Amino acid sequence: MIVRAFLIAVMLCALIGSNNDVCAKQFNNVLIISIDALHPDALKKSKIPTLGKLMKSGSYTLNGHSTEPPKTLIAHTAMFTGLSPGENGKVGNHWAPGKTTVKKETIFDTASRHGFKTSYFYSKEKLGYLVNPAVDVHEWSRDGAIDSARSFLITPGRHFTFLHVSGLDQVGPEYGWLSPEYLEELFFIDDYLSTLVDTVIGKRNYLLIVTSDHAGHGKIHGSDHPEDYRLPLIISSDIVDVKRFQGISFSVTELKQLLANLLEEAS
Ligand SMILES: [Zn+2]
Repeated sequence: MIVRAFLIAVMLCALIGSNNDVCAKQFNNVLIISIDALHPDALKKSKIPTLGKLMKSGSYTLNGHSTEPPKTLIAHTAMFTGLSPGENGKVGNHWAPGKTTVKKETIFDTASRHGFKTSYFYSKEKLGYLVNPAVDVHEWSRDGAIDSARSFLITPGRHFTFLHVSGLDQVGPEYGWLSPEYLEELFFIDDYLSTLVDTVIGKRNYLLIVTSDHAGHGKIHGSDHPEDYRLPLIISSDIVDVKRFQGISFSVTELKQLLANLLEEAS
């Protein structure tokens, strides 16, 4: 009898969608934001109402670690593939349109298998290396990536979006990591993200992840200085328990598996 009632509930869910309480919860929206060159300590020093809200409602760690070397395209390739540079083959930090793109499976393949419409908005052209057939919508935009992500997320359907935000990677080398100018830029980014983040939260059944590719020290990044390898991880969701991630030690190569586990949990 219980089994029969369960089967009826499952059939009902298939008919009416997954937002009903009797249904297993699925993510409507998964949004991953990579804020390029974000030093974890900046989260404690800058005014960040939007990210602060996610840190409070979810969990976070300031104990994340980048790749060897800690550089933008190398770190993002490791993040997307779950493989170290030696394993995924992307050991150089350059790419240009027309050159060969990523061949290993990425987070977009995982998302696609879970039925999401996928999108990838990035603000550095070389990150186009990571566009593969599992990406439904993609756009390189130096200044418009956040707006493009929001335009995508308000369309009907279940969305999986990776958004790469630039800014700190320019202010850091010019004024220094954690300088007043750097912290002010983070405040600006945080403010700009607020509408997008509120849109995702408002649509409910969400998973929001904020991370970065590397940090820097002084006006330098990409070196073997310990500060250059650091990065944060923030996870917030209204349907899965994310408290287990509070304060964890995290490598950028672990994001793909972490994501796969959470998508599996909410399916
Ligand atoms: Zn970077």
